[in-house]
Amino acid sequence: MRTWAFGYPKLGEKREYKKLLEGFWNGKITEEEFLKGIEDLERYRLETYRQYVDSVPVGELNLYDFMLDTALMLGVIPERFKGKEGLELYYDMARGKQALEMTKWFNTNYHYLVPEIEKAEFTLRENKPLKAWKEAKEKFGVEGRPVIVGPYTFLKLSKTLQKVGEEGGLPIYHMEKIEDPAVLKALMEKLIPVYRQMLEELKEAEVKEVQIDEPAFVLNLNDEEVAIIEDAYKKLTEGLEGIDLYIVTYYEGIDDQYFERIVNLPVTGIGLDFVSSERNLKNIRQKGFPKGKKLVAGVVPGRNVWRLDLNKTVELLRELANIVGEENLIISNAQPLYHLPITVEPENKLPEGLKERLSFAKERLQEIALLKKLLEGDEAAKKKADEISALLAQPFGRNEEVVARIKNLKEEDFVRKPSYPERDKVQREQLKLPLFPTTTIGSFPQTPDVRKARVKYRKGELSEEEYKKFIQGKIKEAIELQEELGLDVFVHGEFERSDMVEYFAELLDGIATTSHGWVISYGSRVYRPPIIYGDVSRPNPMTVEWITYAQSLTDKPVKGMLTGPVTILNWSYAREDIPRSEIAYQIGLAILDEVLDLERNGIKIIQIDEPAFREAVPIKKEEWEGYFDWAIKAFRLSNAKVKPETQIHTHMCYSDFNDIIEQIYEMDFDVISIEASRSKGEIIEAFERFGKWDRQIGVGVYDIHSPAIPTKEEMKAVMLRVMKVLPKELLWVNPDCGLKTRKWEEVIPALKNMVEMAKELRKEYGNK
Ligand code: GLN
Ligand code: ZN
Repeated sequence: MRTWAFGYPKLGEKREYKKLLEGFWNGKITEEEFLKGIEDLERYRLETYRQYVDSVPVGELNLYDFMLDTALMLGVIPERFKGKEGLELYYDMARGKQALEMTKWFNTNYHYLVPEIEKAEFTLRENKPLKAWKEAKEKFGVEGRPVIVGPYTFLKLSKTLQKVGEEGGLPIYHMEKIEDPAVLKALMEKLIPVYRQMLEELKEAEVKEVQIDEPAFVLNLNDEEVAIIEDAYKKLTEGLEGIDLYIVTYYEGIDDQYFERIVNLPVTGIGLDFVSSERNLKNIRQKGFPKGKKLVAGVVPGRNVWRLDLNKTVELLRELANIVGEENLIISNAQPLYHLPITVEPENKLPEGLKERLSFAKERLQEIALLKKLLEGDEAAKKKADEISALLAQPFGRNEEVVARIKNLKEEDFVRKPSYPERDKVQREQLKLPLFPTTTIGSFPQTPDVRKARVKYRKGELSEEEYKKFIQGKIKEAIELQEELGLDVFVHGEFERSDMVEYFAELLDGIATTSHGWVISYGSRVYRPPIIYGDVSRPNPMTVEWITYAQSLTDKPVKGMLTGPVTILNWSYAREDIPRSEIAYQIGLAILDEVLDLERNGIKIIQIDEPAFREAVPIKKEEWEGYFDWAIKAFRLSNAKVKPETQIHTHMCYSDFNDIIEQIYEMDFDVISIEASRSKGEIIEAFERFGKWDRQIGVGVYDIHSPAIPTKEEMKAVMLRVMKVLPKELLWVNPDCGLKTRKWEEVIPALKNMVEMAKELRKEYGNK
């Protein structure tokens, strides 16, 4: 029996990774200093692993995203980046003017860069795992286990790219997921020799074992895909002896009908996730496991923070050991640990009793080590495990009032009246907006002074009154600016919010926030997911004061800005003792309380953001219906009781929405703003297919994840494409997400271009 782990956060205990990347981008540190800092981080990671587990992964650290690294390693570099090299190429692809599309990684809140396969050609530009392995050995004395993204997952998460035309002098691309089995097969045939070369070089260097991550094996597979996988792994491994290959899967179980074929792939070991669902356990119980094969038993959660009841997990491990043989058992985390903050150690402001119920990444490694000791019969470990079991058996965080409110919900609480066409009429009469109304998504730049003021306020160096004055000053500036720019619907700017979920989490009962619990969402961007530990309710209004202040400064409508229940739930770590639907309804009711308060205070447009609506969709199609049923209801619950004239907006971004347009439609909002600028019009094709779309929609014309300032022509090209599919009366003009990560120098000219572009469109297409 051995232990291993993977995916330990790259951020560093003091967020060093973020500082290094941003320092380098801003020219504050040299490339040399940057790379030296990265090396220090790698040392820290390897040493941490080494303290707790037997086999240490190498090659996990990257300078932005591991999918980007994989694409570069395999020579998957679109034409438009030609002539660039090294870090310039790397960051151009990550965040340049024509960066790769960014989308959510499986059903998580990590965003990866989507490799674009323009030509069916792959080359091993650099053997990255070999380099990492050598470096770890030479510099840190660690004989590690290289980790790579497997060929199937790489292709499934890439897109093919084709130029299909031009609009306003700019190319239009057609990007497509690789779904056609013939295309997949053809690409796989070209890709496998490159992977094979990589493995042969690793073997040559006497690397002993390699972890090949294939989380895409847990997607719903079909016969053709499984045949392609079998063929690929046969070609990859045939005659390649003397190096142990492990295929590791996570985020779900393997489909029931393909379980045996996947675990029988010709590799030394298979990693299965026993935490995300019961599926793998059910299948291994029924169908067994190939004799002599290693099982990387994913039993320690990588996506949730609840301390493990070690006694229960040891029981599971004993059962697995019985099936596969103890000598074949490897104890592991179930999903990568980068979905967790680094450690609970510094958290000293949590509600009473919570800290001892939590485990973050470092504590997960300790749990893995403890599980091994427990299995070996260690007495001290047993004592500790018993203490934990006793603690976790005690109830925590219940609020009877909230429970009763949920029990009393009726079907009509989820239905808004009257229907959209009727509401639309009243809203148009009241709001009198022009054709192509312009707006932004909510946040304006969170400049250093804003962050500093918040830190000072938290430390008590700024009184509540001083802080309030400061934020009001910012709101006033933002309103004046929007007035000057000539936008039609204003926002207050969200200066009071550190983060769109954390802000509400701090004000809601039943949810805790952390002081240091940072997690990377993409690149150098971090956030602190709150922890839903009890029943959720809203003791006091949360946004009314800020929004009404903003509205008092202008005659233009200011949007009330809220985060929706599905997003608050999904971007938090949630308790597991009640169904997710129930947590979502609890939050939905708390948001409804706020919505009604805003309406009562004269706010006419309220936006309820649901950027996490897509990523929370279950991986397995057979579970979609159950999810959408409660997710749609939770959103509807949050606003069903408003007056017809109150316009409800929602916002979604950075996901593939193409296959869930029907469900989005069911949410019954009046207006949606949706991201489109990086996926190059794909979403527009989805609306075309859907056919009956009659809600107002703002397709994002400005990619806010890039510092580049979009031109009028670029933004107009997006609008013209949308106008081919949807009637102009439905269209809004807006960026594709909030502007908090941008600088004012970027935002002002960009919005100026955007408003001018809308005005031109009105001239050309008539302002009725
Ligand atoms: N209203 C939020 C903002 O503008 C929306 C952010 C998001 O969708 N991620 O910041
Ligand atoms: Zn967004």
